[in-house]
Amino acid sequence: MPSYTPPLRDMQFVMHEVLNVVDELKTIPRYGDLDADTLNAVLEEGGKFASEVTQPLNLIGDSQGCTLDKTTHEVTTPQGFKEAYAQYVEGGWAALSCDSEYGGQGLPFVTNQCFYEMLNGANQAWTMYPGLSHGAYEALHAHGTDEQKKKYLPKLTSGEWTGTMCLTEPHCGTDLGMLRTKAEPQADGTYKITGNKIFISAGEHDFTSNILHLVLARLPDAPKGSKGISLFLVPKFMVADDGSLGARNPVFCTGLEHKMGIHGNATAQIALDGAVGTLVGEPNKGLQAMFVMMNAARLGVGNQSLGLTEVAYQNALVYAKERLQMRSLSGPKAKDQPADPIIVHPDVRKMLLTAKAYAEGGRAMSIYCAMMLDKSLYHPDEKVRKDADDIVALLTPIVKAFLTDNGFAATNHAMQVFGGHGYIHETGMEQFVRDARINMIYEGTNTVQSLDLLGRKVLANQGATLRKFGKQIETLIAAEGVNEKMAEFINPLAYLADQMTKFTTEIGFKGFVNPDEVGGASVDYLRVAGHLVFGYFFARMASVALKAIAEGNTDPFYQAKLQTARFYFARLFPETASLMRTARSGVANLLDTDAALA
Ligand SMILES: Cc1cc2nc3c(=O)[nH]c(=O)nc-3n(C[C@H](O)[C@H](O)[C@H](O)COP(=O)(O)OP(=O)(O)OC[C@H]3O[C@@H](n4cnc5c(N)ncnc54)[C@H](O)[C@@H]3O)c2cc1C
Repeated sequence: MPSYTPPLRDMQFVMHEVLNVVDELKTIPRYGDLDADTLNAVLEEGGKFASEVTQPLNLIGDSQGCTLDKTTHEVTTPQGFKEAYAQYVEGGWAALSCDSEYGGQGLPFVTNQCFYEMLNGANQAWTMYPGLSHGAYEALHAHGTDEQKKKYLPKLTSGEWTGTMCLTEPHCGTDLGMLRTKAEPQADGTYKITGNKIFISAGEHDFTSNILHLVLARLPDAPKGSKGISLFLVPKFMVADDGSLGARNPVFCTGLEHKMGIHGNATAQIALDGAVGTLVGEPNKGLQAMFVMMNAARLGVGNQSLGLTEVAYQNALVYAKERLQMRSLSGPKAKDQPADPIIVHPDVRKMLLTAKAYAEGGRAMSIYCAMMLDKSLYHPDEKVRKDADDIVALLTPIVKAFLTDNGFAATNHAMQVFGGHGYIHETGMEQFVRDARINMIYEGTNTVQSLDLLGRKVLANQGATLRKFGKQIETLIAAEGVNEKMAEFINPLAYLADQMTKFTTEIGFKGFVNPDEVGGASVDYLRVAGHLVFGYFFARMASVALKAIAEGNTDPFYQAKLQTARFYFARLFPETASLMRTARSGVANLLDTDAALA
């Protein structure tokens, strides 16, 4: 069975030594009293919860899955899941970064992001139950009426109730403009909602007394397409003004999907049969309101893969040091043993270091994004808020797609390190691969993320937001460009930053003439952008490590950071050259292929 050690030191390194999050966030009045010790202490406790409570349930959850009683429509989750959730609520974990007005602890998103990385590393399937609630909280917090907020936010904050996100229907996933679920206005101001949703994560379970479904549906007079979608809050049980539960609302789980991974999470088919709901936000503006939840969820999905990357790496590393096979090509290293541990073989190291670099780069990007999210929402200076908001918008599709593509590659490598044993259920390694695969699909497939990045976030504003992020890279290059020891990191980064401008302009021009060119280039483009961001953070991490070493710090932690950054720039970053080349090959080799695909 796999083990999991919360990567607290690595988190502290990114938060306090690289990003300086406490000073950055202290500029926000609500975080005026923030200090590093508090952040560290909360995460230490959070790490204990993840590694001691939810991690031991990961393999059981995978083997048992969820079961549906078709007569009662109730779902039973795997053994121990419900009790772990009760402990989560008891510990106040749901409230971590929620608004104190609704009972939250008011800590920065950074705390929640790190806590959730650990929960995901420990048990992704379990984590999706509270994870989706958090998205529902965000959407209601941003778009709910005062009455909705008063009634529902305290329950989501305490974790007493959970939330879901009901978008997908059998005939539409990516293209939500086609959705058919109907909402009929009632005389009392509520709506009766009828339709079928599928693939609803945590859509039914036995954790809580109530579930709040956030449902996209159409009003009778709604315009066609995505401009005619509204958002509704549909509770499983109706809620009286005093908060007590009333009648069962006809929103039923009619089936559970049998799927490749995340077996412990109930992926529900949900039938709404005149279920009572209330409007969230404005009529026909449901997608905008839901985007709050979707954006939170996209960052959350990137974080899921980050957690899996870390745990898969940790277990592969332990195995590679213990498993004896063959001798090193340059002669025996463990002479007292019948063979050398496989960690002596260069390619095993490559697989381990790939996973390690994906975890460390992903963590820096993820924590940075959480910090910018806090600034975008709460910073007193409007310009800082706007700039931060732009950066979060730019990075969100990259976090979602780059981290999940990397997570799948990393878990695959980690499984490969185990050889045939990795393919066997008990080692838990193949579960990581299966669990990681969905992260590339839901919350908008990674292709859709790449179209969002290139089309909406980059080309639609002529690269303005990209240039904003580029300014930070320029500042780093200006500061470190004179430092010879940083040349191995700064030179490739500066080269890519320069190439990126030309690359973007070129695709923009091609796309202007033929919009399909954008679709032909976007996936490669997003990966190049991902490396640009990773390169920036790896250079910053290397700079901190070099300074610590120069000051005489002998902690091997800093050597490790330096070696990982070197590996990253030498072995992973150069992928950008081939990606730019394939993106530049144009769309004809994809679209002029009717004969090949006949
Ligand atoms: C386990 C699981 C959990 C899920 N949880 C939820 C949930 O909680 N709530 C919810 O509402 N949904 C959920 N989903 C649904 C998920 O978000 C969708 O499956 C996903 O968005 C893709 O939609 P689709 O399956 O209909 O695929 P389609 O939209 O049919 O896409 C099929 C393929 O076509 C590609 N494609 C589509 N349009 C384009 C385009 N314009 N350009 C290029 N390629 C394109 C896609 O990238 C994909 O590869 C879940 C799904 C699964 C499997």
